[in-house]
Amino acid sequence: MNSEDVKAVKRLLSEPQKIVIVPHKNPDGDAIGSTLGLCHYLNKLGHDATVVSPNDFPQFLKWMPGSELIVNFEKDNSLALKLITGATIICTLDFNHLSRIGQMQQSLEASRADFIMIDHHQAPADYALITYSDVSMSSTCEMVYNFIEALGGRGSITPEIANCLYAGIMTDTGSFKFSSTTSRTHRVIAALIDQGADNTQVHHNIYDSNSSDRVRLLGCALGNMVLLKEYNTAYITLSQEELDAHNYKKGDTEGFVNYGLTVEGIKFAVIFIENKEEGIIKISFRSFGEFSVNDFARAHYSGGGHINAAGGRSESSLEATTEKFKELLKQYKDQLTS
Ligand code: 5GP
Ligand code: MN
Repeated sequence: MNSEDVKAVKRLLSEPQKIVIVPHKNPDGDAIGSTLGLCHYLNKLGHDATVVSPNDFPQFLKWMPGSELIVNFEKDNSLALKLITGATIICTLDFNHLSRIGQMQQSLEASRADFIMIDHHQAPADYALITYSDVSMSSTCEMVYNFIEALGGRGSITPEIANCLYAGIMTDTGSFKFSSTTSRTHRVIAALIDQGADNTQVHHNIYDSNSSDRVRLLGCALGNMVLLKEYNTAYITLSQEELDAHNYKKGDTEGFVNYGLTVEGIKFAVIFIENKEEGIIKISFRSFGEFSVNDFARAHYSGGGHINAAGGRSESSLEATTEKFKELLKQYKDQLTS
């Protein structure tokens, strides 16, 4: 964050504010960790801050301190609208465009609050008074740490804040292995442990608390994996029927896409997940190296994200979507095999 923005934020926070903090729809570990971490910090400063999420979030994040106080815009709509209408500041975290919050978009566009954006996705939209955008960052949680540090608040990071921020950095970096992980990321992690983050417990809460249904669903997904060696590509499909047979719950398929990249030589991994209720196929893309899945998702699947991790959607059937995908790969053969 530049020094002008730091001054402007300090000015804004110099008197008590009503603050709403918003993650993207279908929030992940980084979205929930960063919004809760910031929320605890702002409340500690004496503001009245609340996280309002566009929809529910996965069970494996519900251990996070303060997660029980998150207002769900879909479920607690009138309370959410009241908070948004009354807000003097709205912080939007871990997304780059108001279209990423679904039905909440209109309410935020109608608000006259001062907006603060903190995000690490490509191509940030220009709607905020303060835009702290940095695509080189591992995670929005690392940026929230920087934000707190810039405001002189490093010493007031409590174990609650530290656990939230640790969780988001860990999940968005694939446990510190993605190329976005820098020495600075590790320094932030070290500082969070010094401030009380319980690293072993956070890993356990997120990675070792699976339902048996989820582990069996992973088995099903891996069984469905198709390897297209001539394109160094692997893809997985999960039909609605397969999800139903494993009592699918939100978040159960998180991380499945990464298994494609664990196969020797694979540089591009994709998962296609059928969602009959929304009438779409939700798609996640991951790559290793130069191939930009952000460009790929933007060009063909109304999506986006980062160079090595992006998402998108298709409105065709599962079969038609994978057929089209295989056709599309022909255009990318050089990029995928160079
Ligand atoms: P995931 O595959 O885990 O859902 O998302 C991977 C990354 O791409 C995340 O940073 C996520 O925010 C972003 N992303 C996922 N879906 C979309 C989408 O439909 N549009 C855009 N712009 N970004 C997405
Ligand atoms: Mn993120």
